Amino acid sequence: MIKFTERAPYAPVEYLYDVEEILYKGKSAFQDIMVIRNPYYGKMLILDDVVQITERDEFFYHEMLTHVVMHAHPNPKKVIVIGGGDGGVVREVLKHKTIEKVYFVEIDEEVINISKRFFPSVSSGVDDPRVEIKIMDGADFVAKRKAADIDAVIIDSTDIIGFARSLFTPEFFTSVKNCLTDPGLFVTHTESLHFHKDMVIEIQEALKNVFPLVDLYTAAIATYPGNWWAFAVASKGESPREIRNKGKIKAKYYSHEVHQQSFIPRGMYERLMKRELEW
Ligand code: SAM
Repeated sequence: MIKFTERAPYAPVEYLYDVEEILYKGKSAFQDIMVIRNPYYGKMLILDDVVQITERDEFFYHEMLTHVVMHAHPNPKKVIVIGGGDGGVVREVLKHKTIEKVYFVEIDEEVINISKRFFPSVSSGVDDPRVEIKIMDGADFVAKRKAADIDAVIIDSTDIIGFARSLFTPEFFTSVKNCLTDPGLFVTHTESLHFHKDMVIEIQEALKNVFPLVDLYTAAIATYPGNWWAFAVASKGESPREIRNKGKIKAKYYSHEVHQQSFIPRGMYERLMKRELEW
């Protein structure tokens, strides 16, 4: 059987995947795009040789990236999703009955098209009338917004290199804060607490320079190197640990219990930020 070797940016390991079939191989204006089938993971979306999602475990990541902020907000109506061309986050956002509008801002239209073709169960919400697709850099989209009318901004980008870097700058965090309503929340993935601890800390620090409240939660994701995946969440003051939205949604992994258990214990968080955790 042929193999696919993944060397993700910043990862000190390589993953070797069995390839049953190469379903698609092409190049967009932004990146190489490949879809393969693996015996365990099923179909896998790969951009620039880095695994983005797999049929088998995408829901762990998409549910945890989406539902923590969507439940910490009492009544989320308007949301911006940046990146996430596969549509997984949009699908999860739309599970909330309160949603009136989703701005889905993806730089690479081809990722959306390929996902519709090969991952229809992931991209199922993309054509919902509440979703407005914007093909552009997410940082430009947020910088140009005038009103503070967004309840949640969710970043589902590729790793923090190349054109995804614009989503991790102090200027971007400031424009996100400016477009949020008062109990508004922001969430972004920040790589692995095993492999990228310094990066996790630096993003927390950068967010703390802009937002009054910043926190950290994690989830175990089989697909991403380092596995102990960290999510930085920021708000204008409301703690994201609290569940304010009591609307019921159907999820495979996320629950209120998982929400509360996923946050880094406070003492450990303080030691992390003082760089006292020795690993
Ligand atoms: N869940 C995946 C992961 O963590 O590996 C990410 C999946 S999603 C396919 C990532 C998307 O972010 C890509 O389609 C990429 O084109 C998009 N993206 C990266 N930087 C962006 C930016 N600055 N603005 C908008 N979209 C961006």
